[in-house]
Amino acid sequence: MNLESLPKFYSPKSPKLNDETPATGGAALTITDVMAAQGMVQSKAPLGFNLFLAKMGIQDPAPALDGLMHYALALKNPVLVKLSEKARLEILPVLVQFAYADYSRSAASKAPCPHCSGTGFIDADSTTKKVHYPDGKPPKWAASTKGVFPSYWEEWKEVKQPAKVKCDHCNGKGEVSTACRGCKGKGLVLDDRRTKLIGAPTYKVCGRCNGNRYSRVPTTLARALVERVIPDLTSYQWYSGYADVISTLVTKCWQEEAFAEVQLRKVTR
Ligand SMILES: [Zn+2]
Ligand SMILES: [Zn+2]
Repeated sequence: MNLESLPKFYSPKSPKLNDETPATGGAALTITDVMAAQGMVQSKAPLGFNLFLAKMGIQDPAPALDGLMHYALALKNPVLVKLSEKARLEILPVLVQFAYADYSRSAASKAPCPHCSGTGFIDADSTTKKVHYPDGKPPKWAASTKGVFPSYWEEWKEVKQPAKVKCDHCNGKGEVSTACRGCKGKGLVLDDRRTKLIGAPTYKVCGRCNGNRYSRVPTTLARALVERVIPDLTSYQWYSGYADVISTLVTKCWQEEAFAEVQLRKVTR
């Protein structure tokens, strides 16, 4: 079992507690197994697990942000260590928040659909018309008598029926893509100019996501926030200090998630 398949277990309507196809005949995990596995992962890889759960919208991000902040406070970045304690405590949460936003945005190629909470279906009443014969079925002569029609005996009523309707937002898949819209998560887009020039489809790195396949949060936003605290911020300070800490934190998020993944695999195999 991997982390990606975990969100399914939070859907009460999930019929099978297993990410393997039933055809393989693998032992299906019971909800008790999954709960126990989660407890283990939570204790062995708390940061990675909290990050993942928050990213998937299963858990509040506060514990993950606390963990990241803890890590950020211990970083020895040459630019940040020169800051006053007050400025550091003002800036670090900004960097942490930003790193988390970037991680959670670029992380999952799929997130549970918020419209149907990952089930792929929404509850809706459907109305169907049903025929009734309040005076009994039409007699045989009705069919053969001019001017009389069997439909005279029919009474049609609209009947409301609770129904599961395919969720429009995710088209019944229960998941939505967080992939870059420019390249649909491929990282490459067709290079129109070169394709014309060469006469064969030619691709280039997607400019929107820079080949990351997921739309990233622009770092200029973080820079603007830092400049509020440090108005005379130089480019050198930005890149070697704050931007570097952000990228260290984003990397940390990924490493911790991978570590949680390893722990989960260990306990579910
Ligand atoms: Zn949906
Ligand atoms: Zn792209």
